[in-house]
Amino acid sequence: MPATDLDQIVSLCKRRGFVYQSAEIYGGFRSTYDYGPLGSLLLRNVKEAWLRSIVQQRDDVVLIDAAVLSPPQVWQASGHLANFSDPLVDCTSCKQRFRLDKLEHPDTCPNCGGKQTFTEAREFNLMFKTQAGPVEGSGADAYLRPETAQGMFTNFGQVLQTSRKKPPFGIAQVGKSFRNEITPQNWIFRTREFDQMELEFFVPPADSAHWYEYWCEARMNWYIDLGIPAEMLQLRPHDEDELSHYSTGTSDVEFAFPWGFDELEGIAQRSDYDLKQHAEHSGEKLDYFDPQTNERYVPYVIEPAAGATRTMAAFLLAAYDEDVVNDDKRTVLRLHPRLAPYKIAVLPLSKKDTLTPLAHEVRELLADRYMVDYDETQNIGKRYRRQDEIGTPLAVTVDFDSLDDNAVTIRDRDTTEQVRVPIDELLATVNDRLGF
Ligand code: ATP
Repeated sequence: MPATDLDQIVSLCKRRGFVYQSAEIYGGFRSTYDYGPLGSLLLRNVKEAWLRSIVQQRDDVVLIDAAVLSPPQVWQASGHLANFSDPLVDCTSCKQRFRLDKLEHPDTCPNCGGKQTFTEAREFNLMFKTQAGPVEGSGADAYLRPETAQGMFTNFGQVLQTSRKKPPFGIAQVGKSFRNEITPQNWIFRTREFDQMELEFFVPPADSAHWYEYWCEARMNWYIDLGIPAEMLQLRPHDEDELSHYSTGTSDVEFAFPWGFDELEGIAQRSDYDLKQHAEHSGEKLDYFDPQTNERYVPYVIEPAAGATRTMAAFLLAAYDEDVVNDDKRTVLRLHPRLAPYKIAVLPLSKKDTLTPLAHEVRELLADRYMVDYDETQNIGKRYRRQDEIGTPLAVTVDFDSLDDNAVTIRDRDTTEQVRVPIDELLATVNDRLGF
């Protein structure tokens, strides 16, 4: 059974070193999180799984890594300076602040229960503004990007020239974005600093509807293939009144969070809006000349935009399970092997130095290819429980017989079954069992 309470995951993540409050030694910095030894590996694996399916396995998408700091012109053209805001209200009774569009009852304060106690809504721009260089003044204004997407539009001409791609083709990016959220909440679901995984897929205008359908399906399948049960996901098309004026359709991939279905990713048909805006503001041509048809056109864009940190929370919630093994209750994270922080744990049965040299040899053999944890503390049962709880798919135990028979025991996280395997065949067996 996946976790039904966010606290189950939050406390596991703190206890085991996945994710915890940032600057904790100073009392913590609200709504920022640090990803510890396990969380940083898991987050990296989420991003790598995305890159594998969006870039590596395709021949029509390239990757970029654009700057986080950007000049105001970019955000003027994109519309973020004028429109990237949320309606903010203050409760005059308890002084708490809220985002009006996210309130269940827009006239009741969810904190103190006050009725009609809100101020008039003000539009609050979510971008973090800063100064680039030592000189103050408007010429030095810069912004931390609130999304990675604009980097793909400003790089469009460059990529077209250098990559030999032509529509339909995509530009992908994974990286940090920053939003001064009014009400960051629900752990790493909504934070002020987060990781995004975004694709801008440029297509001939007439093919836009086809590619939109294609990406909606492909993106849903990505979550399912990585282990989220299909019934915990839904694709929700936006209502007319949710759509931006330039969009002919947007759907959200939503996950069954403990508080209800909520967004993991938005897949939007953005027409030629962004390229036209940047062409107009920069004076550069941002279009494509098709030598086959002798036509010049501005490609339409399909944008699957996902959050890596938010998606990591969903993978953790879906993987959480409790079961009973040999009358012992255990917690197990049934993470897909591709996502698991460590793929294999190497566990010598004893700390004796007759055993540890062979255990280290086994670790080295596997670590060339996989992220491996080595643990020789506590009794073996406790070590298995720890590996179950951090989602390690396989544990390899080196015991005293190993010294004679040159074999080790592989234990499976999900079934707890154990098999004896010659060390010579260990890597091949592990490759097979992990499946990638
Ligand atoms: P919301 O309505 O929840 O504020 P959004 O629709 O503005 O989100 P997008 O601009 O479409 O979000 O961003 C794409 C993805 O980036 C989201 O689906 C989400 O996974 C992620 N994301 C956006 N804002 C945050 C945040 N503050 N913290 C964590 N992830 C975020």
